[in-house]
Amino acid sequence: MITEIKYKKQICDIGRRIYDKGFVAANDGNISIRINENEFLITPTGVSKGTLTPEMIIKVDGQGNVLDGDYRPTSEMKMHLLVYQERPDIQAVVHVHPPYATAFAIAGIPLDQAIMPESVVYLGTIPIAEYGTPSTAEIPNAIRKYVHEHQGVLLENHGALTWGKDLEHAYFLMESLEFTAKINWITKQLNGDRELSKKHVQTLVELKTKMGIKGKSPLGVETQNGLHAEKITPSRERSLSEQDLNLIVERVSQSIMNELKKYL
Ligand SMILES: [Zn+2]
Repeated sequence: MITEIKYKKQICDIGRRIYDKGFVAANDGNISIRINENEFLITPTGVSKGTLTPEMIIKVDGQGNVLDGDYRPTSEMKMHLLVYQERPDIQAVVHVHPPYATAFAIAGIPLDQAIMPESVVYLGTIPIAEYGTPSTAEIPNAIRKYVHEHQGVLLENHGALTWGKDLEHAYFLMESLEFTAKINWITKQLNGDRELSKKHVQTLVELKTKMGIKGKSPLGVETQNGLHAEKITPSRERSLSEQDLNLIVERVSQSIMNELKKYL
């Protein structure tokens, strides 16, 4: 099948890029693509992602059964399948151990600061999925609660995982995630990880909404077209003006009066 070959070559290409970027060591990391509702192409276990060839790529179904290919699929396949199961809109998943992001995952620090406009708009916040033993159901279970509202997670004491509308998208999210972690680390050395103001983040989130980009934003600012069309929630820092307070008091009083009238 011509498209299948095309996808296999794309996986090999991204494999080379993650290896060249130093996002993985030795045979680490894994990549997958959804080719239809219940069929997926995935990288094999025990092979360097820097030297993949199309015939090494395996086809599996949604339960992880091998449909085609001579190699064994990655032992971390379960977390890829969980993402596809939970997010029918997702077409590709990338898992690597990029040094800065992995250091944050080890330190237990999520990437949720509003430090750069690009990461606010493009990446959103990246939480930490609780530690699980690789290859067991623990990792998929930990990812489940974050997969709907984010574009990726840090895997505690392990690495990072991103998902996207196609493989290039998932890979670029990973580049952006690692870049954000690196800048965050450098600014921390300067004691200068100053965040953007709430007002600036709100403006960026409006921009992000117009661009149709999803995923949670820092400082509690929500996109209106978020994955579940979440409301804009009041921020941690926002204080009510006197005018707001007066209005609330007036409305509450009015509704109490209306309730009381029923009994008079
Ligand atoms: Zn891993």
